[in-house]
Amino acid sequence: TPVILWFRKDLRLGDNRALVHAAATGRPVIPLYIHEPNNGPLGRAQCWWLHHSLVALGRSLERLGSRLILRSGPPQAVLSTLIAESGATEVLWNRRYDPDGIESDSVLKAALRGDGITAHSFSGQLLHEPSRMKTGTGGFYRVYTPFWRAFENSGEPEEPLQPPTAMPAPDVWPDTETLDDWRLLPTTPDWAAEFRNVWTPGEVGARRRLQDFVSGGLQGYAIRRDFPAEPHVSMLSPHLALGEISPAQIWHATRGLAGDVPVEDVTSFRKELVWREFSYHLLFHFPELPRRNFSEKFGGFPWRSDPDGLRRWQRGETGYPIVDAGMRQLWQTGWMHNRVRMIVASFLVKDLLIDWREGESWFRDTLVDADPASNAASWQWVSGSGADAAPFFRIFNPVSQGEKFDPEGAYVRKFVPELARLDTRYIHRPFEAPAAVLAKAGIDLGKTYPQPVVDHKMARERALAAFRGLAVSS
Ligand code: FAD
Repeated sequence: TPVILWFRKDLRLGDNRALVHAAATGRPVIPLYIHEPNNGPLGRAQCWWLHHSLVALGRSLERLGSRLILRSGPPQAVLSTLIAESGATEVLWNRRYDPDGIESDSVLKAALRGDGITAHSFSGQLLHEPSRMKTGTGGFYRVYTPFWRAFENSGEPEEPLQPPTAMPAPDVWPDTETLDDWRLLPTTPDWAAEFRNVWTPGEVGARRRLQDFVSGGLQGYAIRRDFPAEPHVSMLSPHLALGEISPAQIWHATRGLAGDVPVEDVTSFRKELVWREFSYHLLFHFPELPRRNFSEKFGGFPWRSDPDGLRRWQRGETGYPIVDAGMRQLWQTGWMHNRVRMIVASFLVKDLLIDWREGESWFRDTLVDADPASNAASWQWVSGSGADAAPFFRIFNPVSQGEKFDPEGAYVRKFVPELARLDTRYIHRPFEAPAAVLAKAGIDLGKTYPQPVVDHKMARERALAAFRGLAVSS
């Protein structure tokens, strides 16, 4: 009798425990992907990615003599139909750790078992299970550094598994829907047109990205990872988000490198991978992380309603070049450099005083790497409302951040082409440039590029006052 192998956020053959286990049963395997109603929790950018990733996964499975069956609907209903059609007696999957996923998987497991079907789940989305790290008193970590220490003390993450070389097929393949039926790709206007030039979704693209990074950008990572115009970050996050590569594969690829990569670069990179683990640890223990302030004190924060400010932020028309470059990089490529994510998030929350949940939701919809744990934890971190958060009163100045991390303005010039010819001295502060300098660069401030949506100095005082009010009233 066949085994159903249910793919979710693990769209890979390498280091895939459920898949290795399925192949090892020696029984026919039916690989399945279920498209949940309303795209499940996936935003529009990630739907684009998913489409291409499923194409790639289908091809890889074909090379093993197998196929990918596509079905849509609520998972429980889809699975029971497929079980009835195929006579399968076992369902295997890799665990996911977002609260909705945990909830629906445990309901499903109980229902399957109730029907006499074997249901098995495996690890692989994280380096260690999110419940594994415990404080001395048995609680969970709220601060990263002790979490990292506990992580270091808990042993090397397991070695990645090799994929099987073949997968037994059923005598008769069940029907499959087609990807085009699911309409995952954006229609007009095709705002994802540029994505194709930046990304190669799928396991092969992920592995290539990892190899390129390990042999290139990793060297210098510890310091240069903060400079958005430089190629010193891995850009592996979207591949990780849908599980085209496992964190263990990445971790082990940075082991035993020839002496030309300094150890501080490897450690610094691994520490970022562990921020992802820490985010899942927080989400696991505080499932409301995407919705509720971790710090209760922020419950009464006087957020402003500012639809115009929000729109300008989303479109990259705030008049602050580094913020606009980041938001346009996000729109054009589905991704944004981490340093710039921090700057734009701080700008939304502190300069515009707009609730971080608006930003979290925009990112969820437009990031190809949208991740329920990292996105929520990072927004709360920037806002000051999270666990181990940056203090609210530490407010990024978008001009000096730009000057420090994009000193020549190369990043701004790339994503805000209307400023491309502006003198470097003013590239992060066009609103202070003399008229002649602007004219020479072909800029008509207020027309070809916006005036600042808000005066940073005033906004800073306003944010501090709001925060002081909170501190007094709590
Ligand atoms: P690298 O620097 O090459 O790091 C390697 C990997 O480590 C990343 O792929 C990622 O998995 C992990 N990582 C790196 N930095 C962080 C971090 N600060 N927190 C958690 N994991 C990290 N990351 C997401 O994957 N999805 C999100 O939805 C997301 N939303 C964010 C929202 C805000 C407001 C901020 C400030 C950060 C957010 N991040 C998110 C974290 C971080 O910006 C990205 O993981 C990183 O920029 C991805 O690029 P990279 O793969 O080149 O990172």
